[in-house]
Amino acid sequence: MSDQYDVIVIGAGPAGYPCAIRAGQNKLKVACIDEWQNHDGSYAFGGTCLNAGCIPSKALLESSELYHRAHAEFAVHGIKLTGVSFDVAAMQKRKAQIVKQSTAGIASLLKGAGVTALVGHGKLLPGNKVEFTDKDGNKQELTAKHVVLASGSVPTELKSLPFDGKDVVDSWGALEFDAVPKRLGVIGAGVIGLELGSVWRRLGAEVVVLEAMDAFLPMADKAVANEALKHLKKQGLDIRLGAKVSGADKTKDGVVVKYTDAKGEQTVTVDKVVVAIGRRPFTKNLLADGTGVELDERGFVKVDHECRTAVPNVWAVGDLVRGPMLAHKGKEEGVVVADLIAGLHGHVNYDLVPSVIYTAPEIAWVGQTEEQVKASGRAYKVGSFPFIGPGNTG
Ligand code: FAD
Ligand code: NAD
Repeated sequence: MSDQYDVIVIGAGPAGYPCAIRAGQNKLKVACIDEWQNHDGSYAFGGTCLNAGCIPSKALLESSELYHRAHAEFAVHGIKLTGVSFDVAAMQKRKAQIVKQSTAGIASLLKGAGVTALVGHGKLLPGNKVEFTDKDGNKQELTAKHVVLASGSVPTELKSLPFDGKDVVDSWGALEFDAVPKRLGVIGAGVIGLELGSVWRRLGAEVVVLEAMDAFLPMADKAVANEALKHLKKQGLDIRLGAKVSGADKTKDGVVVKYTDAKGEQTVTVDKVVVAIGRRPFTKNLLADGTGVELDERGFVKVDHECRTAVPNVWAVGDLVRGPMLAHKGKEEGVVVADLIAGLHGHVNYDLVPSVIYTAPEIAWVGQTEEQVKASGRAYKVGSFPFIGPGNTG
């Protein structure tokens, strides 16, 4: 293996692998390094999104929605089913197959674009060099004209309620339950909390969602957030706003989560807890001393509007840098960087990154909210149309 490349991409999630593929398509000599390891010990490309995020969550959202509709909605349509039941193991098997197919697809796409895929750890050294450590611990120094950092993000831990991989889990853990928890506590009414809370609620769990803020989904239009809250509560999600978690005790009866709200100190006892209070950029052992790459106060790699770091020819994309932590945002940045490296034109319009929460109904928005437009002082008009208007077929 020659150790000189035009481009080395560290990380093969939705930001890194499209960058590597596009750079390969731009006729550059590219290596893409990734160390992702699944719970069964296997290595896979595709990052959080394909292995433990977007793809598995959407697979379970679909299975649980189909069950819910068959169980609770078909009768309204005059479709009679008796004895509708579900099998969590079969749902998990389908999900695992979808993940496996998708991640194998990335490996083929990289190969098709002529990218050298390296399984192991990448670390940026000073002078645009990369130390590659393979899965057996062998080290090699690679050089590249350009290095793209795309090491993504990891779940934020709640100090008062640390993950234990069994009763207190992160989103990946909550995607791998082998049985429906009778009582599920979700910390954080954000995107993950609502999607995974919906999955297990539809399958029969009693779900309590504790959200620290008084406002529900403040990043969406108030009108949309208010409507969504009504629907989700009707579906049985017990969403408690202004609930600040202070700790938990593991007892014979389950995990007793302690929180304070406007009424004072409260507790709720559950069988499992999913902590989904956001994610943080992942830079562990990514940057050797003296690279010159700067981090901001929250640990994100500092970049300009074109994803350039403070170091010439070192770029950073995806969840590792500012902006929404979304797969399509990272992908767009990765592709743009690969084009800029090749001397082509590229531009990301950060004002128009769409967001979707895949609950039922789905909650989606793009651009500024009404509240943001109002705060800007510009004149504006509101148009709204209830979906029930054109005839309710739901
Ligand atoms: P990642 O996907 O985190 O990939 C980074 C990769 O780099 C990983 O494979 C990691 O192992 C590897 N890596 C890190 N450091 C090194 C190193 N030093 N050397 C080698 N390899 C390294 N977004 C959406 O847009 N739509 C959704 O529906 C959606 N659903 C989600 C559901 C869940 C449960 C979660 C957790 C996230 C979801 N997201 C969704 C967010 C999405 O997964 C992320 O925005 C996206 O994965 C970020 O891509 P990335 O490439 O920046 O990082
Ligand atoms: P999030 O930022 O969407 O929501 C976290 C929530 O937790 C917020 O409402 C926050 O106020 C609350 N919170 C923070 N600290 C808390 C505390 N101590 N107690 C109670 N509540 C607390 O984060 P997430 O849901 O963990 O998702 C992480 C990222 O993954 C998001 O940036 C999201 O964009 C991405 N994601 C996207 C999708 C999608 O696009 N459909 C799906 C899942 C995840």
